[in-house]
Amino acid sequence: MEDKLLKELQKKLEAEKILLEKDLSKFADKDKKISYDYDTRFPELDVATRPLASDENAAEIESYANLLAIEHALELRLKEVEEALEKIKKNDGSYGKCEQCHKEIELERLKANPAAKICLKCANQKNN
Ligand SMILES: [Zn+2]
Repeated sequence: MEDKLLKELQKKLEAEKILLEKDLSKFADKDKKISYDYDTRFPELDVATRPLASDENAAEIESYANLLAIEHALELRLKEVEEALEKIKKNDGSYGKCEQCHKEIELERLKANPAAKICLKCANQKNN
């Protein structure tokens, strides 16, 4: 892969990493040991000053479940982005190679998703 393109993709990944970390920090505490692991804070139930109706409670719990789903998706994406950056750093040629068939991943695919791990062909086979 061209150096210039690699730098460009690395920049994209680093920018996405910053955004993901920012999003995650809005509602979750970062786990210091694992950089992509976050713990979602349970929303504080302010029962002392504001008695909650049971349906309000349910809504709060539901929104917590939604947060967990979002957090999970963000974490997964952050993990992918970090793994891709790790491959670039190693500089052993593993970045941009399909993890399944070990061929080069299509450039268009990498430009659209610099954290792609498998090529278009393998991705299509996986979906079928
Ligand atoms: Zn492949």
